[in-house]
Amino acid sequence: MDRKRCEIICVGTELLLGDVLNTNAQYLAQGLSRLGLDLYVQTVVGDNLERMKQAIKAAMGRAEILLFTGGLGPTSDDLTREAVAACFGRELRHDPEALAEIRGYYALTRRPMPPSNEKQALLPEGGILLKNPQGTAPGCIVFDDDGHTAVLMPGPPREMRPMFDNLVVPFLRQFSGSVLLSRVVRVVSLGESRMEEMLADLIRDGVNPTLAPYAREGEAMVRVTARAKTREEALELTEPAVRETLARLGRHAYGVDVPDLETVVAELLARAGYKASFLEAGGGGLAALRLQSARGGAAVCGPCLSAPSMDALTALAAPGETLPESPADACALLAEKAKAALGTEVCLVTALSGTQAACAVSLPGETRRYAQTLPSRGADYYRVAAAQAAFDLLRLSLLDRLEGAGAEKAKAGGNAAG
Ligand code: AMP
Ligand code: MG
Repeated sequence: MDRKRCEIICVGTELLLGDVLNTNAQYLAQGLSRLGLDLYVQTVVGDNLERMKQAIKAAMGRAEILLFTGGLGPTSDDLTREAVAACFGRELRHDPEALAEIRGYYALTRRPMPPSNEKQALLPEGGILLKNPQGTAPGCIVFDDDGHTAVLMPGPPREMRPMFDNLVVPFLRQFSGSVLLSRVVRVVSLGESRMEEMLADLIRDGVNPTLAPYAREGEAMVRVTARAKTREEALELTEPAVRETLARLGRHAYGVDVPDLETVVAELLARAGYKASFLEAGGGGLAALRLQSARGGAAVCGPCLSAPSMDALTALAAPGETLPESPADACALLAEKAKAALGTEVCLVTALSGTQAACAVSLPGETRRYAQTLPSRGADYYRVAAAQAAFDLLRLSLLDRLEGAGAEKAKAGGNAAG
């Protein structure tokens, strides 16, 4: 079957006013991309019948499958059904199954059904009902005589998402001749532009897979995307590009398809058999929060402290100590002193004051430190960047230790054999 083109039309004046963020479009776009369906245009249109019809006709000129969210409610400004029925040349009819569904929902929630809700049981003739156990607005799939398909889904994301995943995705599979698979290489302590330079030829010449660089707060990433008949084939296509990217970026690449840096650090701590304590001055306790929220993080996290300044932190963790002038040295001293008090193998101390970030990681027998001036972008950014840099120092320390231990073991094994 020919590849079908899709479009997304999100209906709602609240979206145009900026009152509600259009998360439905993102959710649907990601879903279509996973199905390998082409999406070239998205539209947002207000609750106005004429403008909706215009938007629908324009979309019908460009694409075969139109996905709608919103405007399926019971009130007079919910017009998606009417607009689609008009453009698709279909009458609206009362659907007994839809009405039973809506009645059932009200019975379940023990509320009387307002008469206006009967409108939600209207379905364009020849359409397929999409049941909505999360709410009152059923969705539907509608066909016209020229090969167009419209999928109507409710606006509230908690109703739209299960309907899309459970009913619409299986329906759309018949139109999808291929899958699009993306793998994401996550990168830290390397700016997006420097990363792009290191991968310039791969990004320029990549066709299948393609490589695309992205930047996020405190890190960068490379998305490697391949299209193929099956998931396995697509995965195989991405493999050499992912391997080459990892080889070029070296230790700046902290993982592939991993949730975040703290999850990687939690795994390394577990492998090393260490627990870590975080002492944070001026960072709002963000690093500790992130480690404890990460998968496997709570198990490798010891007691943590957060204070607005190094002096306050010292009073708590190492009373009576006089700290060195340099923030990095102060962090190092505090990390070494606090380890014993807190009973953990690893102690990480961060000091953030304005744009000045310092950090020290103390492991058994070794303490590492660094200091940096952050680009001036505001308090939220400083906290994220400082925590990110601290996690990276801890990650590199643990990698050296684990790889060193691995090398020692290999050497010992070699000696025994020789
Ligand atoms: P509706 O189905 O048009 O009555 O939408 C009901 C509610 O769902 C709206 O008030 C929004 O809060 C939410 N909503 C509608 N469309 C979207 C969208 N595209 N993205 C996120 N939320 C939405
Ligand atoms: Mg609406």
